[in-house]
Amino acid sequence: MLDDLPNTLQSIHDRERVRSDGQVATYIPELAKADPDTFCIAVTFVDGTSHVVGDEHAAFTLQSTAKPLVFGQALQIVGRKLTVSLTGVEPTGSSFSSMVGLDEIGRPLNPMVNAGAIVTASLMPGSTPEDRFEHVRAAVATYTNQDTTIDEAVYRSEKRTGDRNRALGYLLKDKGTIEGDVEETLDLYFRSCALRATTQGLANAAATLANYGLNPHTNERVVDETYIKDILVVMLMNGMYNYAGRWAYEVGLPAKSGVSGAIMAVVPGIMGIAVYSPKLDTYGNSTRGLAVCRDLVQRYDLHMFGSTMHPRNP
Ligand code: GLU
Repeated sequence: MLDDLPNTLQSIHDRERVRSDGQVATYIPELAKADPDTFCIAVTFVDGTSHVVGDEHAAFTLQSTAKPLVFGQALQIVGRKLTVSLTGVEPTGSSFSSMVGLDEIGRPLNPMVNAGAIVTASLMPGSTPEDRFEHVRAAVATYTNQDTTIDEAVYRSEKRTGDRNRALGYLLKDKGTIEGDVEETLDLYFRSCALRATTQGLANAAATLANYGLNPHTNERVVDETYIKDILVVMLMNGMYNYAGRWAYEVGLPAKSGVSGAIMAVVPGIMGIAVYSPKLDTYGNSTRGLAVCRDLVQRYDLHMFGSTMHPRNP
């Protein structure tokens, strides 16, 4: 059914390349320097086969696409009960950096908003900040199948200007949701967001989730299969900012978007899709990325409640 995918990706890329709507994120000053025309689409199947079209060498910072990966590590390290008791799994209906994203007891509503991701960062293991960062970096490297490093300029730019995240961090500490040194936890959060990947690397990460936690290229396990549904559910409900409901309706795949212009989407048991193009709509989602995902889902009937995903087979 997906035999013509390489040609399809090329024709979608040719068509969407001329799309001009959207704005590059500027609230992290360094992100404003991104070339708005950069555009790449990549797909990795669970057997490790990959297809990529466009600017395949362009590397970008993961930003919020790191959130599901770090959430997976938190589940893996402290277990489901504690992680979910500290981060919640409810949709927020407000923006990623919202101060409203906490419930009445000071718990973030879910781990896909910044407050929740600051909590999952606080759960990373290690006796020093460097150990904790290395844990995240190594996990992301296993997901992406790339030897990832941080983009120092983006990291410093966000650290210098990230006062809203700083406010969230201190609020979470005040409520007792996170423990320890707030600045250290924030530093780990900023560094996780500044980890770099190419579109192919992000498609590999999505394919690792589609492959129930095993990297399809190396067969290395990065997260236990039992936690995949936890990750995919919060991605489906909360992965696309305030567009999450429309996304579930139109595309219907677990996904995560980042303000660098990255989107990854998971077709469980089949493949991971990634798109990078830095122009964002008003919700913060890549405009080309949305168009590509909508097109692929319609063309191949990939919506999770579509008949291809659930053939009538008594
Ligand atoms: N580092 C970004 C922030 O905290 C991530 C936002 C995003 O990609 O949604 O503002």
